[in-house]
Amino acid sequence: MQLLWKYPLADEGYVTQRAWESAILDSCPFHPEGGCGLEKLGTYPRVEPEGMRVARWWCPKKRASISLLPSFLAARLSGTLAAVEDVVALVEAKGVAAAVDEVHPPDADDFVGLACALKSIRRRVSAVRAALLAIATLLPDRFAGVRPTLAAFREALGVPRVLALLREIAERHLGALPVPLGFGTRAAA
Ligand SMILES: [Zn+2]
Repeated sequence: MQLLWKYPLADEGYVTQRAWESAILDSCPFHPEGGCGLEKLGTYPRVEPEGMRVARWWCPKKRASISLLPSFLAARLSGTLAAVEDVVALVEAKGVAAAVDEVHPPDADDFVGLACALKSIRRRVSAVRAALLAIATLLPDRFAGVRPTLAAFREALGVPRVLALLREIAERHLGALPVPLGFGTRAAA
């Protein structure tokens, strides 16, 4: 399972300070009373941002691993929430074709191919839309009637970037909320 780590610094600080080395899990989420033999299992790497690692523990009683995802990092999609938000906002503003040109320019050394680039961007768009829809449903007092777009949520909250903030606002629902915000159901592809 994944738990959220409210890490105070942005991604550069997390990587340069190798924050995963000092990560502490106070108690096992399955056995808060202790005594299950919870042990640190080391870390695993994330492709993006470069150098990123996530700290992981193992509960032998539940036979499950527990990883501590820093709050700025997207769940199950590569990269940070801010990077995911930028791509999806670009699609909302200019359309998918323009976003492909900007995010995966065909003359880049690491160009993945048009089909791959389209797939990657559409995956982000549909995941974010599903997460926004879920938030509007889970928190009707705040977001009833808000369309599941970044533009609509930015307007509703009055801030230029919303994904990291929404993760905080919906924190108690993270287990049910779809990725990349929550750790719940896989978003429809
Ligand atoms: Zn345990």
